[in-house]
Amino acid sequence: MKNDKNIFKQLAIFSIISLVFIILFNALLMPQLTKRSVKETNYSFFLNQLDDGNITQVKIENTEIRFEVETEDGRKQVYSTGRMNDPDLVDRLRKDKDIVFTEDFAESNLLLEFLVSWVLPIIFFIVLWNILMKGMNKRMGGNSMSFGKSNAKIYVKAQTGKTFDDVAGQDEAKEALVEIVDFLHNPNKYAEIGANLPKGALLVGPPGTGKTLLAQAVAGEANVPFFSISGSEFVEMFVGMGAAKVRDLFKQANEKAPCIVFIDEVDTIGKKRDGNISGNDEREQTLNQLLTEMDGFDGKKGVVILAATNRPESLDPALLRPGRFDRRIPAELPDLAGREAILQVHAKKVKTEENIDYNAIARATAGASGAELANIINEAALRAVRNGRKLVSQSDMEESVEVIIAGYQRKNAVISQKEKEIIAYHEIGHALVAAKQKDSAPVHKITIIPRTSGALGYTMQVDEGEKFLMTKEEALARIATLTGGRSAEELIFKSCTSGASNDIEQATKIARAMVTRYGMSSKFDMIALETVTNQYLGGDASLACSPETASKIDEEVNSIVKTSHEKAIRILTENIDKLHELAHFLLERETITGEEFMDILNKEPAISL
Ligand code: ADP
Ligand code: MG
Ligand code: ZN
Repeated sequence: MKNDKNIFKQLAIFSIISLVFIILFNALLMPQLTKRSVKETNYSFFLNQLDDGNITQVKIENTEIRFEVETEDGRKQVYSTGRMNDPDLVDRLRKDKDIVFTEDFAESNLLLEFLVSWVLPIIFFIVLWNILMKGMNKRMGGNSMSFGKSNAKIYVKAQTGKTFDDVAGQDEAKEALVEIVDFLHNPNKYAEIGANLPKGALLVGPPGTGKTLLAQAVAGEANVPFFSISGSEFVEMFVGMGAAKVRDLFKQANEKAPCIVFIDEVDTIGKKRDGNISGNDEREQTLNQLLTEMDGFDGKKGVVILAATNRPESLDPALLRPGRFDRRIPAELPDLAGREAILQVHAKKVKTEENIDYNAIARATAGASGAELANIINEAALRAVRNGRKLVSQSDMEESVEVIIAGYQRKNAVISQKEKEIIAYHEIGHALVAAKQKDSAPVHKITIIPRTSGALGYTMQVDEGEKFLMTKEEALARIATLTGGRSAEELIFKSCTSGASNDIEQATKIARAMVTRYGMSSKFDMIALETVTNQYLGGDASLACSPETASKIDEEVNSIVKTSHEKAIRILTENIDKLHELAHFLLERETITGEEFMDILNKEPAISL
């Protein structure tokens, strides 16, 4: 948009400069160059010139004589004079053998003059402008002057280079897309039975789950032209431009059928139209055009429209009705098996040691998206290079998981002994509370090496398998574990620090969700007190209750956290010896594994005599 504005400014400036040039050129240079414009003169001048033999051409009209005079230095000039009653003029003219009677030299000169002085320069400047723009486009890789033209890139099979094998997990999505690919290959099979394939399919899911990748894989598999365009490319400064682009895109697609059209990030143009008067006209027109086009083409012809978004709830309902994007293909965050498969797909691109335990990495990355997993493998490879190794090892991968979760290690951060001690007790507090409750995930690793994310240490818990549900007991155990850090500080140092802010945030979030969304509190029944918007983008919740209820919710949340906090303090008090022992062990080692932790925890206390 900004780009387009700039172009117009430039165009305006350029036009003004060219115009000034042309005018100056005409005023100053042209007369010098040609001197051919017709000059009025009197009859006696004509006669004198005739006598001197300077006239080369002449044209006699009813009331006017035009003649060309050649001066000594070879310049030519056309004059015009009135015609007198001079009967033997023609004879006198004919006596001079050099004089040519001409029909139209003045007129042809005028035309030529006009061409030379106005048309040519304008053409010249237009050509110059075009060359400039082309150069600029190339430099910016942009499309600044192609108004109303869709910028859809056409992919054919070889060009995306992606196939379904590149997409791990996402089996349901792949299955649905395989059907579409099959339809494009042999439409007759479907036509015979009378089945209509969906005109459009909408890929929905959180960012980084492989929606764009899936579409590219379809392009790779389908072997038909594949138009790919991002929703934001339709958004233009001028009303109507986006709509024109949509028209152009569908025109192209219809010509190339069977083919696939992929609109990425469709929510940029497909947002719900609202009654807002100051609404965005341009976007609305673009959407309307899209709706019209989707209705307009024949589904049997084999144009399939794919779109991707991570905000399906914001899409206009008209877009989602049957006959348009009637099929929804979810691309959810991968489960345990999916994560393992994605790690393996990406690990193929790097050289690894044998016997890498991908399952362990997958278990440690619950909730990670495909993009994050791809990033973890890449970080691991970078770490291997940094350490001068040729192969990626298990420890590279484990470290890079932590890099993704908490950032890089801050090796030279200076932390006083006193603070280190507090951090150690805090982390062991978390770990101990977790270990002493049966409903919480096993401790995997504890570290007090600070990270670039600001974490001064952390306790990593890894579940054995995949969890789809969270029971009330697990939720409470989780909150107790989160309060465990602060509890340890209070117990040992009789004070508290600001280090628990993240724990507090998470504990509150869980407790709040228990009350408002999961119906897990004793005060409220199964009532939805909050609704979640933007399910795929962080899941913001907005309250849907009266202010009185809201204050009751706050009370309830507070009481849940308070009970858990008290439970954590009780657990730590009962195990205060272990707390001391483990904290000192951690201070010494800085990082300990879950096994080391459990060994010390389960060891019988030494019997002192
Ligand atoms: P989005 O859903 O946001 O469009 P992308 O398709 O752009 O996500 O995915 C980003 C990157 O993440 C891909 O290029 C790929 O490397 C990786 N990725 C995501 N999901 C998968 C998957 N299921 N299998 C393999 N790689 C994946
Ligand atoms: Mg994408
Ligand atoms: Zn903590």
